[in-house]
Amino acid sequence: MISDIQFGVRVEVPLKNKLYSALVIDLQKEMQMDYKPRTIVSIIDKEPIIGDQQFKLWNWISNYYSCTIGEVMNVALPSGLKLTSETKVYINPNYQEDMTTLSDEEYMIAEAITIQNELTIGEIRSILDKKTVYPVIRSLLDKEVVYVREELIEKYKPKNIGVVQLAEAYKKEPNKLSEVLDAVKKSEKQTRAILAIYQFSKSQEFIPKSDIYEISKVDNSVLRALEKKGIIELSEMEVSRLVHGNYQQKELPLLTDDQSTALKSISAIYKEKSQILLHGVTGSGKTRIYIELIREQLALGKQVLYLLPEIALTTQIVSRLRAVFGDDVGTYHSRMGNAERVEIWKAVNDEKPIVLGARSSMFLPYKNLGLIIVDEEHDSSYKQQDPAPRYNGRDTAVVMAQLHDAKVILGSATPSLESFHNVNQGKYGLVQLKNRIGSVALPEIEVVDLRYEYKTKRIKNGFSLALREGIEKALANDEQAMIFQNRRGYAPTIQCDQCGWHAECNNCDVSLTVHKFFNELRCHYCGSRRKMIETCPACGSHTLNQKGYGTEKIEAQIRELFPDAKVARMDYDTTKTKNAYQNIIADFTAKKIDILVGTQMITKGLDFEDIGIVGILNADLSLQFPDFRAGERAYQLFTQVAGRAGRKRKQGKVIIQSFQPTHPVILETIDNNYDRFFAREMAERQKFVYPPFYRFIQITLKHKQPKTVLEAAHFLAKQLSAKFGNRILGPTQPGVARLRGQYLQNITIKMEKDPKVMNGLKRFLMHARLHTLNSPGFKSVRINLDVDPY
Ligand code: ADP
Ligand code: ZN
Ligand code: ZN
Repeated sequence: MISDIQFGVRVEVPLKNKLYSALVIDLQKEMQMDYKPRTIVSIIDKEPIIGDQQFKLWNWISNYYSCTIGEVMNVALPSGLKLTSETKVYINPNYQEDMTTLSDEEYMIAEAITIQNELTIGEIRSILDKKTVYPVIRSLLDKEVVYVREELIEKYKPKNIGVVQLAEAYKKEPNKLSEVLDAVKKSEKQTRAILAIYQFSKSQEFIPKSDIYEISKVDNSVLRALEKKGIIELSEMEVSRLVHGNYQQKELPLLTDDQSTALKSISAIYKEKSQILLHGVTGSGKTRIYIELIREQLALGKQVLYLLPEIALTTQIVSRLRAVFGDDVGTYHSRMGNAERVEIWKAVNDEKPIVLGARSSMFLPYKNLGLIIVDEEHDSSYKQQDPAPRYNGRDTAVVMAQLHDAKVILGSATPSLESFHNVNQGKYGLVQLKNRIGSVALPEIEVVDLRYEYKTKRIKNGFSLALREGIEKALANDEQAMIFQNRRGYAPTIQCDQCGWHAECNNCDVSLTVHKFFNELRCHYCGSRRKMIETCPACGSHTLNQKGYGTEKIEAQIRELFPDAKVARMDYDTTKTKNAYQNIIADFTAKKIDILVGTQMITKGLDFEDIGIVGILNADLSLQFPDFRAGERAYQLFTQVAGRAGRKRKQGKVIIQSFQPTHPVILETIDNNYDRFFAREMAERQKFVYPPFYRFIQITLKHKQPKTVLEAAHFLAKQLSAKFGNRILGPTQPGVARLRGQYLQNITIKMEKDPKVMNGLKRFLMHARLHTLNSPGFKSVRINLDVDPY
């Protein structure tokens, strides 16, 4: 019925011989003649699936980040809500209700899929011999008879799962762990299982068996043995995908005086302003403050969105939140299965109180949002790089809060210059926590001059004398060590000592990294690999030298220096499998690892208790980054890495190795002097016309032919310069001039922060981009726009 059409419902529309689900965003009485309308063949929803505020956010993103509203819709809607003719439909193996309650059409489809395993929507159309099948499929999806797309299979958990709980006697006395460990000490597997069970039972009473299997790599026989010993009890439990069991409500620690004072200032500021920057040193108890703010919102009946820059971090925070709020906490991120995503979508629509997630969780249909928490707000992972919309989650969250008339709190130990600038401009309120919990002093930071170390030959395997001694001391005190290196792989290049030849990627203008374990050379930009080589392909000599240090090599060096220590590595290469990240964290927490080597992955928000020493092997790698943000990123990185040392019991130690030990960023880090860092960095930004004083748009053009991409870049730059003069820089060839076989050219726009200029420029830019693409010879050039690119 035409009268059922309203804003926010999905409809079926034919396009190029296919049927798509489309979203109604506006109704017009008059026929507009400048484009050809399509016929709507059916209406899928009875109720709108998105609300007014959501659509306003989509519009803002599309305008601000210069992309189409369709690109926004693509990231905003879970695929479960986007159906096309090719979408495959499967039977839900967990559907247990009686099929006879289905309508005739529903039954026909369900039966056909049962027989054929899967059907595309196109096939269903021909089975029913009618065009409009989405409403039926939708109803089957709603009843959970079917689901769409294959990646769901593994994500779909059965409704009955096996769970483990500690036996009554042990539940009441968590301190009996050592006694329990004693009872199982003959079995390594049982020990592993017990450690995992105790870890989980801090935050939940019933632990899914599967979680124990994953973490401790044991099977059911081990759990049965523990049951026999009377340590645990096994049972079955019915769970929906969103419900994770009964959480033991944990007593929260009392607020410290600093925390109470901070909370008082927060509520005072919120009377006047809606945005607050919470600047609290590492380990100052920011999360405890968020928990208090969440409580306040729940008491008001409001929803809270807790944003984190990366999916990996959600697993850490979620158990802390669930220990307080139980199943009121939902999580959402782009790696979840479609069914789970659609389910949380519905739950949020029904006012699920708390959502913890990565930036995509901003797109859920909040009805009653009261607060957005942006944790680790400085983190560059908040920025989506590819594909469009290339939006910054932090900045979008601030706008989103405004649309919902909600409060927002941005938290960090190392605030971005943008946010601190906003404080100075009076836009954001500022609340600071200057001390660590329990008044543990911030770590003592020492810088080691690598020039001197090399000259005096005190360096060994890349480790200075001071760092080696520091690690030894920590190990002797039964403490752990963390070593940071900003580069993965074994060695970043392989070079011939005779002729200077070095290994380069065939697709990109970058050198190949040695990966020793795999005996391969790999490109870190496009992922291509080659077998390791022993002789120089240019001169045939055997003098190939592996230059530099990656984390893989560092790990080997440490094993050589500290043969008795248990060493592990955390980087992109060791965390590819599903639970690898969590396993390393769990092992490090349980002190099954003495020394952990890693890339910036080890720097982020992790809370360990016993790190005696942290080493930054080569600070220069971070300081020399060819980007105006190098200083800011390095300060954040160093301070965050250093912040892992000595959090609870005692002061920790940090050693920074560098060839430029008096670099201002290193000195600011040592003094923990954010204000000095901020002042110096801002002066430079102003001098060189950089953000946050000015805004950037980065235009990247790509093509297989270097000549074509250059011509297109000049063609576009000329149009832009004619209108916007010296705001347009380039075209220039970026540092890596060829990526994945495509040649690149950049055009950068620097513009003053005047909304009139910015809006005019962006609109003109969209036009000029299309005009370029439609001009002869440039059809296959790719032109990406990136607003606030870094
Ligand atoms: P941040 O997020 O600022 O780095 P966290 O919130 O992780 O700090 O807190 C650091 C540690 O201090 C955590 O282990 C946390 O459990 C503990 N903590 C936080 N607040 C309190 C408190 N009021 N009393 C005791 N311990 C606390
Ligand atoms: Zn050679
Ligand atoms: Zn490559």
